[in-house]
Amino acid sequence: MAIERTLSMIKPDAVAAGNAGAILQHFEDNGLRVVACRKTQLTQAQAEAFYAVHAGRPFYGELVEFMTEGPIFAQVLEGENAVKAHRDVMGATNPKDAADGTIRKLYAESIGRNACHGSDSAENAAIEIAFFFAASDLL
Ligand code: GDP
Repeated sequence: MAIERTLSMIKPDAVAAGNAGAILQHFEDNGLRVVACRKTQLTQAQAEAFYAVHAGRPFYGELVEFMTEGPIFAQVLEGENAVKAHRDVMGATNPKDAADGTIRKLYAESIGRNACHGSDSAENAAIEIAFFFAASDLL
């Protein structure tokens, strides 16, 4: 298996609930090393751009509103097969379908307010990492 990097976000619901530290620990406990991390609040334009692939979906407006309501943590995680490993640690999009012990099972409120984001492919990971970080930030 290859060592990969992926872009992870802790969404505003989980940051507001004080779960960011526990979620970062969860990543490290599952073999995902934090190579960059920053707390920021997305502007409407940034959230629209980040989720542009979902423009036109019925939940797009709600998603942009949610993602701008408070601070998020963005982090780059590194490990073996990190894109899939991180998505496995996050669990299914809808917490009702998420496996026991996953972040979304533990911390998500609903399919929309679901605690975390993870890149879905190595190609998108590279684009999403560049959205938040310069190469010199990746340590
Ligand atoms: P992910 O890769 O598991 O995050 O899921 P998707 O790429 O399908 O969706 C992106 C994000 O849009 C999800 O993480 C949710 O925050 C939101 N989302 C997806 N489906 C729905 C939905 O049916 N309703 C609402 N309100 N939000 C949704």
